[in-house]
Amino acid sequence: MSDGPTYGFDTLQIHAGARPDPATGARQTPIYQTTAYVFRDADHAAALFNLQEVGYIYSRLTNPTVAVLQERIATLEGGVGAVCCSSGHAAQIMALFPLMGPGRNVVASTRLYGGTVTQFSQSIKRFGWSAKFVDTDDLEAVKAAIDDDTRAIFCESIANPGGYVTDIRALADLADAAGIPLIVDNTSATPYLCRPIEQGATLVVHSTTKYLTGNGTVTGGAIVDSGRFDWSANDKFPSLSEAEPAYHGLKFHETFGPLAFTFHGIAVGLRDLGMTMNPQGAHYTLMGIETLSLRMQRHVENAEKIAAWLEKDDRVDYVTYAGLPSSPYHDRVKAQYPKGAGALFTFAVKGGYDACVKLVNALEIFSHVANLGDTRSLIIHSASTTHRQLTPEQQQAAGAGPNVVRVSIGIEDADDLIADLDQALAKASA
Ligand SMILES: *Cc1c(COP(=O)(O)O)cnc(C)c1O
Repeated sequence: MSDGPTYGFDTLQIHAGARPDPATGARQTPIYQTTAYVFRDADHAAALFNLQEVGYIYSRLTNPTVAVLQERIATLEGGVGAVCCSSGHAAQIMALFPLMGPGRNVVASTRLYGGTVTQFSQSIKRFGWSAKFVDTDDLEAVKAAIDDDTRAIFCESIANPGGYVTDIRALADLADAAGIPLIVDNTSATPYLCRPIEQGATLVVHSTTKYLTGNGTVTGGAIVDSGRFDWSANDKFPSLSEAEPAYHGLKFHETFGPLAFTFHGIAVGLRDLGMTMNPQGAHYTLMGIETLSLRMQRHVENAEKIAAWLEKDDRVDYVTYAGLPSSPYHDRVKAQYPKGAGALFTFAVKGGYDACVKLVNALEIFSHVANLGDTRSLIIHSASTTHRQLTPEQQQAAGAGPNVVRVSIGIEDADDLIADLDQALAKASA
């Protein structure tokens, strides 16, 4: 089908990027389980390798099943192109790779997925890159952190672990003024709840491992490009604006215009970093995306009910869900996240660390796992798991104090989830 802008989200989540298989008429997207593609002739091969013609060479770069997923995610996010890769963390490196270089930095939110904090504070140093962490609600602090070596601002739309919601438009304005891109990790919101490009983001990254696939089966990632950033406006982005020696001096921005970032991601990023998504993985994610809006509606509905129930319970100190009328983010949710604040939040249990551990052990439907965005309800006690290495002060600052658990509310019956929490809280506070 042609992806006319007139189609709604529910139609696009099923059809965008897909067409009946030209060889067999297969209605569902086939899993093209192949590593290589036969060239028509030597001229065709040469044109493909010179990037003069678009086509399939080798599945480290492109694969027809993965290509359908790329087009679908790009369409749902309102971008011009997307590159899929092997995990959400791969997507983050792939997004930064064309922008950064030794001595360059990214200004990043303090409210991020724990693994991202580690990737940004530790591992990227090996490339000579660094991250400056700031509270993105403090716009003056963000502005002050941007220096001549800053190459991007990075945040999450609905942010870990507390489910805070970010003012994307305000950060996009700061990024624009500094001539750098804003990268938004839209994993927890999904394009159903938030479309960062419409709010001014340059790039959107995803862990497709989470809600997009939706059922906890495969890891994957994606980088979506808005196509709106002028990579040649200053000399900060030579990978995109200047001659690329590996392609006979081709300039990506000059040659591919709004698709420069996407083409670079495939022709240089996947070619040399090799963080490729496999076609089986793409298949599972395509299956998941077909029901994204339906699942997200239920995730939000359940999260709203459960957060409201928890907030009223005497055994609970506080609930951070931005979808609650009592949340300091309530107005921002209404303005920028009108379909809801997602299904990820934390709550504090009276009785602290010991009560949290007892609660997690006593739950029967909720699974104790280091994951989010599954059909199943999930819980984790960060202080005894993901944030165990941090000092109590650091745990507090990350919103992962010893008395706090993080939940990812699934799409089971809300009444069953409430009953499960009720019996487990009784045991935790006994
Ligand atoms: C899970 C997650 C990641 C990392 O994704 P992987 O697929 O596990 O590599 C990044 N950001 C957010 C918000 C996540 O939830």
